[in-house]
This record gives sequence, structure tokens and C-alpha cells, in this order.
Amino acid sequence: MTATVIDGKQAAADLKESIRQEVAQRKVKGLSVPGLATVLVGEDPASQSYVKAKHRACEDLGITSFKIELPADTSQEKLESVVNELAHDDKVHGILVQLPLPKELDEERVLNLIPLSKDVDGFHPVNIGRLAQKGREPAFAPCTPSGIIYLLKKTMESLEGKNAVVIGRSNIVGMPVSLLLLRENATITICHSRTRDLPAIARGADILVAAIGRPEYVKGDWIKPGAVVIDVGVNRVEDDSKKRGYRLVGDVAYEEALEVASAITPVPGGVGPLTIAMLMQNTLRAAQMRDA
Ligand code: NAP
Repeated sequence: MTATVIDGKQAAADLKESIRQEVAQRKVKGLSVPGLATVLVGEDPASQSYVKAKHRACEDLGITSFKIELPADTSQEKLESVVNELAHDDKVHGILVQLPLPKELDEERVLNLIPLSKDVDGFHPVNIGRLAQKGREPAFAPCTPSGIIYLLKKTMESLEGKNAVVIGRSNIVGMPVSLLLLRENATITICHSRTRDLPAIARGADILVAAIGRPEYVKGDWIKPGAVVIDVGVNRVEDDSKKRGYRLVGDVAYEEALEVASAITPVPGGVGPLTIAMLMQNTLRAAQMRDA
């Protein structure tokens, strides 16, 4: 079997096009222009490039963006006052505090200050709590996990009753994607670094989500024939043939997986592009919710 390659770039482009049109319509109707504020503390190059990409996407879709950059030695009080100000600014519909924060800062206290209605990253403890509760709806769900569900729904007729194995239990990916899969009525197994006999558990998966952060860790013979594989990992491995000296690989041994799975997301070009598209969608929704 040669797996279908799930084209995250195209899926994200399609989603962004529909957002672009919605934003343009809002302008025609005289409704508010969605606005996203990002708060970046420090000069971590990866965080800087993620924030830059988010602003580029805003510009591309007609969403207003506000960029707040603070030095690495910003105090807790200062950061909290910046977030509070954004919380009260009517032009700002969504607030994104780029994580991780420098370790001296209390991340949970900062996230708590973001109003639920502006929590477009979906990491406010109340939104995460609602995600975990039956019959409750979070205002927003985290972007990468939402992107994964979006791709799965495009790929599979139904997720209901499927055995889903998620490798990784982080606050950002593993745990929220497990909760979202549960909401789709899949049966979930969450694995982590202390899981015993991971390959055997993975082999039971109709849907296998790898969010580990270890290059090509999941081997082809861990995959059930016909499974749908979502590779969230983004890992740099040395490669002298590349100008920059490295290439990006996922958490799944891609070439091996192609032979066994029915569908798989590539790295790059799979889950990654959906993350920003989902953030743009959440920002548009935040503006729509304000109107309602
Ligand atoms: P993380 O916070 O480091 O979490 C990694 C998870 O993997 C942890 O739950 C850990 O278990 C588990 N793990 C580590 N080694 C393991 C092993 N040998 N066997 C089984 N489980 C193991 O990472 P993350 O933030 O979730 O990110 C995971 C990957 O996704 C990274 O490569 C990251 O770059 C990528 N990512 C991509 C996007 C995107 O938009 N494409 C977004 C976010 C993250 P314990 O809990 O027991 O430590």
C-alpha cells in the first residue's frame, strides 16, 4: 500500500481563502475588522519566527495585527499590565501570548488574564477545562489540535468509534488533541515516556497521532495497515546537503510509514500550515462572537 499524502498546505490555503472572503465581507458590511495582538517576551529565534509568520498571515487575510515585543527581563507585573491593557482594547479581538515564556514568569497567571472571549490560542485554563467536560463548549480550542481534527475529518468519513492512539500528553498538543478526538467519539489511548510496549499499543490504532519531538521515532512496523497517521513532530536533523545544514523531519519514519498507512501527513507541509490557519479562524470567530 502507498499511503495518500495529506496535503496540509492546500487544506490551509483553502481555509485561509474562506477566512479572507469573510473578513472582506465584514469590511463591506461596516463590521469591525478582526484584530489579533501577539505578545512576545524575549528573543528566542523560534518564537520570533512563529510570531512573524502569524503577522504575515494576518496581513495576507486582511486581519489587523498588533505586535507587542518585550525584553527577556520583563517583570511579571509589566507583562500582566500589558495583557490587561489588551484585554480592554476594543480593537483587539484575540490575544496570543507566545509560549514558552522566560521561566521566571508565571505562565498560568498570565494566561488567566486573557478574557475567555479573546483566548484565540485556546490555552486559558477555563477553556481547556470546558474542553474536558461533557456538554460544555470552550470558546476556542487550541490551534494545532484543531488543525489535526480538521485534517482527519477531510481524510476520513467518520472518526466515531475509531481507535485513536496519541503519543504525547503535552498541554499544547497531546492532551488537547486527545480531548478533541474524544469529542468526536473516537476511543482514545494516550501514551507518554513511561508507556510500556508503545509499538504494541500503536499497532492497535486506526488513527495514530505522534506528538513526541523525536526524529523518526515511530517505525513502519508500529503502524496498523490502513491506519491514518498524523505526524505532528518537527525535528531538525543534520544534513550537509542542505544550505542551512539541516532538514526537518517528523516523529514518524515517513518512508516506512508510506508503505503501511492509508494516509499520512508529511513534515513539513502537513499539520504545520493548519496551526496558523486555525489561529486566523479563531480570530475571525472572536470578532463574530463580539457582534452576536
Ligand atoms: P513536549 O511538550 O516535549 O511533549 C512531548 C511528549 O512526548 C511528552 O508527553 C512526552 O512524555 C512524550 N514522549 C517523549 N519521549 C517519548 C517516548 N520515548 N515515548 C513516548 N512518549 C514520549 O512536545 P510538544 O510541545 O507536544 O511537541 C511535540 C512535537 O510536535 C515537537 O516536535 C514540536 O516541535 C511539534 N509541534 C508542532 C506543531 C505544529 O504546528 N506542527 C505545534 C506544536 C508542536 P512525558 O509527558 O512523559 O514527558
